[in-house]
Amino acid sequence: MKIAIEELAGCSGCTIAVLDLHEMILDLLNDAEIVYSPVIMDVKEPPEGIDVGFVTGCVRNEENQERLEKIRKRSKILIALGTCACYGGISGLSMLSSNEEIFNTVYRNVDTVKDDGIIPTDVPPFTYRAFAVGDLVKMDYYITGCPPKEQFLKQILPALIKGDQKELSRKSVCSECDRKMGSVENWHLKRRYEGEPDREHCLLGQGYLCLGPVTFGRCGAACPKKNIPCHGCNGPSLDILREPCRDIYNMMVRRIADLTDRPQKEIEKELYDVAHTMYPFTIGSLIMEDKENSKIRDLVKERSG
Ligand code: SF4
Ligand code: SF4
Ligand code: SF4
Repeated sequence: MKIAIEELAGCSGCTIAVLDLHEMILDLLNDAEIVYSPVIMDVKEPPEGIDVGFVTGCVRNEENQERLEKIRKRSKILIALGTCACYGGISGLSMLSSNEEIFNTVYRNVDTVKDDGIIPTDVPPFTYRAFAVGDLVKMDYYITGCPPKEQFLKQILPALIKGDQKELSRKSVCSECDRKMGSVENWHLKRRYEGEPDREHCLLGQGYLCLGPVTFGRCGAACPKKNIPCHGCNGPSLDILREPCRDIYNMMVRRIADLTDRPQKEIEKELYDVAHTMYPFTIGSLIMEDKENSKIRDLVKERSG
């Protein structure tokens, strides 16, 4: 079994998450050989004949796109590894700025730029937007998470390598969270730094914007267990993916309105910075942008001018 891991626009954290399996890597290497991974080894190009290819990061420039197409051609099975690959992830937030602004921030207005202001000409051009990899080539499987969590990788990787069928949870973060729904009075939206949430009751009920109801689980509700609201790093829940009329924003507004017995219009007025609070991991996904009620189209147009 030949395995390859390609890196596109991301932080390499997904590959590091695989390395974080520690001794279990040795077991996996009894059945598989890693033939290409720019983070782990000094190999410049993926070889032909890859059995299972993983892609991490989204597509944000033409080099990313070429690399994605190459590994697709050379892999029998291709898997999007991590939320950047699946939905654009954090890299997708670049769509809130114009390509010119990004270029200036990264290459021009930095202390290390030479006085002559000459920019290298071999920097790959940006694509006109961020793309989740499945928006450009056919993917066989998706493993979400920023990065995918250790307990989940431990379940899925041996099964993938051995070709075994594996029954996996399809639940949302809320379904994995054991906080109690308490009575909700005088609800108002709180910033994360306001006060300390009570550790027993639902964070959303306490006014903290917890995206658990609209987020795919498989992390064991890791953040609510540490008293931190979920910010949606596993991407949208299955019901949102399946139903064209369901979107992260409208489902959250509906959920808060149900909890608090307040009109949806009132809730909408309290929500702030929708791009970073509702879509920090999905703004680069065409599947999410194309939803009937998606706010992504307005946000991107508004911010990039
Ligand atoms: S999904 Fe998260 S950990 Fe993985 S490459 Fe993207 S930002 Fe990094
Ligand atoms: S909204 Fe958050 S805190 Fe409340 S049940 Fe869902 S995951 Fe738990
Ligand atoms: S609780 Fe939410 S933010 Fe935290 S790991 Fe799970 S999906 Fe990600």
